[in-house]
Amino acid sequence: MHSPGPTHVPEAVQNALRRQPVDLGDPRLDETIAACEAGLKHLLGTRDADVFMYAANGHGAWEATVVNLLAPGQKVLIAGTGHFSESWAIQTEAMGVTVLRTPYMEGLTIDMAAVEAALRSDTQHEIVALFVVHTDTASGTTNELQVLRRMLDDLSHPALYVVDVVATLGALPFAMDTLGVNVVVGASQKA
Ligand SMILES: *Cc1c(COP(=O)(O)O)cnc(C)c1O
Repeated sequence: MHSPGPTHVPEAVQNALRRQPVDLGDPRLDETIAACEAGLKHLLGTRDADVFMYAANGHGAWEATVVNLLAPGQKVLIAGTGHFSESWAIQTEAMGVTVLRTPYMEGLTIDMAAVEAALRSDTQHEIVALFVVHTDTASGTTNELQVLRRMLDDLSHPALYVVDVVATLGALPFAMDTLGVNVVVGASQKA
């Protein structure tokens, strides 16, 4: 079997996990949260976006994103990248959202022509969001994010641009504001 990991957890992090927790009302907790938010904004390359921290795995962050952006019956377009775009699609469908998928070939990048055709044919702008996986971990294939922002702009399509950086945040260059990404989904367990 080929799978990523094991993830190296630095000694300083292990030691921090051994310390006593601070009280809910302790002002040091506010300071810690503020420092985490500032650090995450720096990592995400954003000045003004809000940061929400969840005690969950990547699937939990996916779920939070779907629940907060889409109502059952609304439509999302998921660019086919491989295993993770398909898992995201299945989970999103289970939450009552209508999912449009573009086809993928394991190990190849997103079929941009298929994404463009799907957006172009959506003349009523029923697609609320475009979901894209930056690197599909199963094959290690990384997708070009700038192209899709440009595509949405060129077509004047108002869909929210949502990117999964679970595998890549901290490992590959990413800048939310520069790329014009509206919602970013990350997690701490991979890069
Ligand atoms: C692992 C992974 C997820 C899901 O994260 P879990 O913590 O396993 O639930 C989502 N997207 C990508 C790209 C991943 O690599």
